[in-house]
Order: sequence, then C-alpha cells, then structure tokens
Amino acid sequence: MGNVKLEDVTKRYGDVTAVDDMNMHVKDGEFVCLVGPSGCGKSTTMETIAGLTMPTEGDITIGGTNVTHLPPKDRGVAMVFQNIALFPHMDVYDNMSFGLRLRNFDTDETDRRVERAADILQIKPLLDRKPSELSGGQRQRVAIGRAIVREPETFLMDEPLANLDAKLRVHMRTELQRLHKELQTTIIYVTHDQAEAMTMSDRIAVLNVGELQQIDPPLTCYNEPANLFVAGFIGSPSMNFIEGEITADGFDSEFVSIEFDPVDFDVSVGTPVTLGVRPEDVYLADDRTGVPYPTKHIDTVTDVMEPMGDEIFVYLLHETCEPTTIEESQHHSNQLLMSIDPATEISEEDHVAILFDRTKLHLFDQKSGEAISHGLETAVAKQTATQPPTSEN
Ligand code: ADP
Repeated sequence: MGNVKLEDVTKRYGDVTAVDDMNMHVKDGEFVCLVGPSGCGKSTTMETIAGLTMPTEGDITIGGTNVTHLPPKDRGVAMVFQNIALFPHMDVYDNMSFGLRLRNFDTDETDRRVERAADILQIKPLLDRKPSELSGGQRQRVAIGRAIVREPETFLMDEPLANLDAKLRVHMRTELQRLHKELQTTIIYVTHDQAEAMTMSDRIAVLNVGELQQIDPPLTCYNEPANLFVAGFIGSPSMNFIEGEITADGFDSEFVSIEFDPVDFDVSVGTPVTLGVRPEDVYLADDRTGVPYPTKHIDTVTDVMEPMGDEIFVYLLHETCEPTTIEESQHHSNQLLMSIDPATEISEEDHVAILFDRTKLHLFDQKSGEAISHGLETAVAKQTATQPPTSEN
C-alpha cells in the first residue's frame, strides 16, 4: 500500500522554517503534485518523505508504517530527480538494472523487470545504447525506468522534466500520465510549474512559505481557490485582483462596484476585500452571449494586446486613468486582463465597455487572504427570483 501520511511535519534549518506544520494524506495510487514558487518547501517536503532529511517535528507514515526514523532504502519509495545521474560507461540495460544487481536479484528477475519497464517506457530498442547516444527525453525515460524496476509502492519525483525543452516536457507529461494509469502506483511529484500540476495530477498540493495552502483536485483549486495565494498562483495568465471594501450595497472600489447583500456572504460592512476575476470571465459588454448574470458595465480603454492564436489577451485600463508612459502601463494597479475570441475586432486604444459574469466572481478577505465566496450567485438568485436576469445597466 503506497498511501503516504504527513502529520504535523515541520523542518527547520536554523532560523529558516522550510516546512511548517504540514498535514497531508496521499491515498494509495494517487498522483499528487506539490506545487509552489521556488523556496516554498516542496523539495524539503519530498526529502522528508524519501528519508533524505529528518523532520524536526512530526511523523511520516507510508503504507501504514511509521517510517520517520527508517533509512530511504527501507521506505518502499523510488526517486527520480531533475539531474539524471546515469553511469556514462554503462549501457541502458546496465543503468536500469544496477540497483537490482546491488541487491543481488537473480538474472531472470532482473531481466523480467528491465524488460517490463523498457516496454512501458518504449525504450526496448535502446537497451544496449550508452547515455551519450540518447536524447534528453530518452535519458529521462531511462532514469524513470531505473525507478520502475524497483517496483516501489510510491514514486517520488522532484522536477524530473525541468531540464527538458518545452515541447518534450509537454510530451513527457502525457507519458507520465500513461505510466501512472498503467502502474496504478502512488506518485508524489514536485514542480514549480502550475500547468504541469494542473494537467497531470489527481490532486494538487499548493505550498507557500512552507505551509500547505490547499490540497484539492486541479479544477477545484482553479474554480474554488482557498485563498488569494492559490487564486494568484493557479491559472495562467493569473486571476485579476481588484482591491476594495464591503459596503451596504456590496463591493466597492475606485472603478468597480458589484451589487449584492453582504448579509448573504456573512461579511460585515467596512471589511477590506479583494475581488477576483479570471481573464476568461471578463466580457465585452456588447458581446455577452452566455453571461446570464452580468454585472454593470465598466468603461475601459484597451492597452497592450497579445494575440495567442486561439485567443487574444487584452490589457484594459479604466477610462479615466490612461497611462502616459510604458512603465506606468506595466505597473498600473487598475489594469485588467481579458481573454477573448481571436475573431473579435479590437485594437489598441479602443474605448470598450466590459462586464463580468457574477457567477464567476471571487471574493477574498484582504487581511487573512481567505476566500469569502466563489460566485455571487446567492445574491443573484435572490435578485432574480422576481425578475429575469438582465444587465444591471
Ligand atoms: P523549493 O523546493 O520549494 O524550492 P526548498 O524545500 O528547497 O524549496 O527550500 C525551502 C526553504 O528551506 C528555502 O528557504 C531554502 O533556502 C531552505 N533550505 C532548504 N534546504 C536547506 C538546507 N540544507 N540548509 C538551509 N536551508 C535550507
């Protein structure tokens, strides 16, 4: 059984708390990505699971056994790292079977395991090649193969694709998903790349400054981020944030106000809050097909445009605060990013009215960062009980 439990795990290096009171339960057969910015404690968490470092406090259980004080070799885990250390003078077969031979596995069993791993990874034709005769992706597959032949209960992977070029990384993502489907083994995978985490995992564990922020399926992290950090980290481009406060009429800020009854969201008048809206939930007011619960119009002027082929990213500024310099436009706090259909006729410095989908708005407490609500539909339901949904304008 490859379920992994971290209970109250803390790791300190002198004054630095690399992992802070981490509680996490990875189920048997689950693919969990640890994701977060550089220095947030991903690798340290992984090292405590692997047994490469001892936690200062707390317990680690793998498959029901408390392994906190066991050496790495007795934990039933196999690791794959970013830096693939293959023996240059050995061929692929010898590189993959090296660990088994050290443990005195007989030739038949070694052959069986290497064949199976090579089969899964589609590297059978490469078994007699030296690492120098392999591409980056093939070398990475051999490194994964070396972990597979151990037939571990849990794979621990620390940024294994980080050294590959962008195209190969995307390809290897699919390979890893396939591998997971085939092996049905627990995988704990460290990455700083939220897109990698979103596409591969059953659940994402988002870390920041050593603390677990949220552990949920990718779409839950995307649609219902627990706090401002997760909201800003998951999703590319990032969610737009608008700082304001709660009034008796709802949310109010310098340029945007959204009507709702604060009582419905259990939030007091005067509370500083941040409104979050993803770029794809910002609409042009005259093209609001599919927005049943639109907000009031907001008058903006288009700034920089980034055509991506399948969509256009349009940076918007409030009409009354057009920037005068490039620096000003780059650091403008009232800038909003909108993602729209590439067929939309729009150019720089156009005056456009936009609106948001009320059901897709997120409200966060500015002080604690915690989410207050995802969607303002409670208010919408109340408001529309007596009238059909229309623009508030
Ligand atoms: P990540 O993998 O998310 O980039 P790490 O787990 O490597 O983060 O590091 C978390 C924090 O702990 C960082 O502030 C880092 O500088 C610190 N840290 C990691 N390893 C050591 C160490 N051996 N000695 C001192 N500080 C360390």
